[in-house]
Amino acid sequence: MRSHLGAFKVSDMILCALICLTGIAVTVLVLTFYIRTEQATASVAFKLEVDERFSRVQRRFSVQDLKLDTVKRFFINADDVTEKEFMGFVTPLVEEGETYGWVRRILQKDLEPFRANALLNGTSDFSYHEVNPLTGEKRPLTERAEHWILLYLLSLDDVTITPGMDVMASPSREALFTKARESHQMVVSDPLEMSNGQSGVFFVAPVFPPASTTPNSDDGLEGYVVSTVRLAFLMEQNIPLASMLRLNVTLSTTDAPPDEYIYQSSVPAASSTLYERRLLNVADNTYVMQFRPGPAFSAANSHVFSRSLIIVFGAVLTLLMTAMVFLLITQRTRALSLVAERTQELQTMNITDHLTGAYNRRYFEASMERLIVEANTQGRPLSLIMFDIDHFKLINDRKGHLCGDKVLQLLCARISAATRKTDLLCRTGGEEFALICPDSQLNDARTLAEKLRVLINALPFDEAGQVTCSFGVATWVAQESFDDFIRRVDGAMYGAKFGGRDRVQLAIQEALAPSA
Ligand code: GH3
Ligand code: MG
Ligand code: MG
Repeated sequence: MRSHLGAFKVSDMILCALICLTGIAVTVLVLTFYIRTEQATASVAFKLEVDERFSRVQRRFSVQDLKLDTVKRFFINADDVTEKEFMGFVTPLVEEGETYGWVRRILQKDLEPFRANALLNGTSDFSYHEVNPLTGEKRPLTERAEHWILLYLLSLDDVTITPGMDVMASPSREALFTKARESHQMVVSDPLEMSNGQSGVFFVAPVFPPASTTPNSDDGLEGYVVSTVRLAFLMEQNIPLASMLRLNVTLSTTDAPPDEYIYQSSVPAASSTLYERRLLNVADNTYVMQFRPGPAFSAANSHVFSRSLIIVFGAVLTLLMTAMVFLLITQRTRALSLVAERTQELQTMNITDHLTGAYNRRYFEASMERLIVEANTQGRPLSLIMFDIDHFKLINDRKGHLCGDKVLQLLCARISAATRKTDLLCRTGGEEFALICPDSQLNDARTLAEKLRVLINALPFDEAGQVTCSFGVATWVAQESFDDFIRRVDGAMYGAKFGGRDRVQLAIQEALAPSA
C-alpha cells in the first residue's frame, strides 16, 4: 500500500483537492440558492400576513367610524332623542371596550329647566359637574354662556365618567371638540390614557341639524356623539390567536420617535430583517403601524433541517467523489506499476537464460554487434573469452541431468561473482559460454580467463566433483567482422580442447590480419 501511495503524484493530489473543492463549492452554491429562495418565500409570506392583519385593523377602525356616523345620523334625523331611545339604538352597536355618549349643548340660563324637563321625560338622574383637569376631582360647573353636558352614556368598559359632566372643562378635550365643530367632520383624539388606565382613542362627531333649521347667527350645533375605544380592542379584536402569535405589531403617531408606541402587541419581535410599515388613516388622524415577525412566524419559515440536510448531503457527496477519484487514481497507479513490473520481467526473460541467469545467445549476438560498432568508431579495445565445460556429457551420464544443471548454475554464479559488472556472461550453447570484456586488452582478458579457469577447477562442484573448462581468448582487431572474430575465439577454444583441456588458448591475431 505504501508503495502505491508513494506513487501518488502531486498532480493526482491536486486533482483530488480540486474534486473536493468543487464539491464544497457546489454545496455552498446550492445552500446559498436555497437560503435566498427561503428568504424570498418568507418575505412574501410575511407581506401577505401583514396585508391581512393591516386590512383587518383598518376594517375595525372603519367600522368604529361607521358606527359613530350611524349614531350621529340618528340624532340628526330624530327630534329630542330620549335616553331610552338612545339606549335602544346604541345597545346593538356597542361592543366590549367601547363607550358611546351624547354630549348636548345647554345654555347657562337653561341648565335647571333643562334638567327638570329631562328628568320628567325619563332621563336618569344626573348632577351637573365638571372634572378638574389637574386633580381629576369633580367640582361644580364653572359659569359659561354654553355648556356641553354628557347626557347619555352607554359603556361596556369600566370608565368612571358619569352623566352631567361638562366635557369642555378639559382644555385638550375642548380643542378636540372645537376642531370637530369647525370642520363639521368626525375627529379622533391623539391616543390618550383612559379613565381605566388603558390606552384608547376618542371619536367625536358633531351633530348639526338639517341646514334649513339653522339660524343665521349660530352654527346650530346641537351636540356631539362621542365614542371611546380601547386601542387594544381595535388592534386585536377578531384576530385569530395563531395570527396574533405570528406578528409583532406596534402603533405610533406619525411624529413620535421611532421606539415610542401607543400600542404594542404582547408578541415579541424575533430577530429578523423582515419589516413592514403601513399608514393607518382614521378620521382626520394618521397612525403608523409597524410589523415585525414574531417567533412563531420565524419558526414556521425557518428550514434549519433542510439546510442541515443540504450540508450533510453535499459533504457526503464530496467525500464519495473524492474517495472515488482517489481509488481510481490508486488503481491506475497500481495497474501501471504492475505493467512496468511485467514488462521488466518479459524483457529480462527475453535476454536471459532461465536456468543459469546468464544472458542468452540472442543478447550475446546483439551486444557484440553493438560493442563492435562502438569499438570501431571510438577505437576502444574489446576482448572476448569463450569457454566450454570439459567432458560435460560424462557428468550428465554419471550423475544425472539434474546434477549437470546444478553444475551449469554454480559455474555461472562463480564467474559472475568474480567478474566486473561491465563484463557480460552469456550462455551461447548447452555447456558453452562467452564472456564479453569491453575496454579490455588481450593480456587483461587472458589473465581473467586464467583466473576463471583456476576458480573453476580449484573447488569441487558438489556431487559432480571437479569440473574443468577450456578457454579461448581474443581481442577484436580493427575492421574485423563479427563472424571472423567469433571464429577466431572459437578456434582458440578448440585449440585448448585439443591441447589437453583445462587450459587457456589465445587466438592467433596476425594470421587473420590481411595486411600483416
Ligand atoms: P568436450 O570436452 O569435448 O566438450 O566433451 P563434452 O562431453 O563436454 O561435449 P559434448 O558436446 O559431447 O557433450 C555436451 C553435452 O552437454 C551433451 C548434452 O547433453 C549436454 N547438455 C547440453 N545442454 C545441457 C543442459 O542444459 N543441461 C544438461 N544437464 N546437459 C546439457
Ligand atoms: Mg560443447
Ligand atoms: Mg564440453
